[in-house]
Amino acid sequence: MASESSVARPPVCSSCGRLVVPLEKEVGVHFRCPNCGEVIIWRCPKCRKQSKPYRCPRCGFEGP
Ligand SMILES: [Zn+2]
Ligand SMILES: [Zn+2]
Repeated sequence: MASESSVARPPVCSSCGRLVVPLEKEVGVHFRCPNCGEVIIWRCPKCRKQSKPYRCPRCGFEGP
């Protein structure tokens, strides 16, 4: 019965897969995939600090 599209998925860090909890939204970053522009990429403060690479789940674009 649950419609997946209507449920807001909690933001997950695209680098480490960790949940970006609301408190961390203040210091975490999110942006659209520079390649396909369809996916919001989230990065937790930890990965942002370490400049870990991310991967777009949609188009597979990898970037710093
Ligand atoms: Zn992370
Ligand atoms: Zn993409």
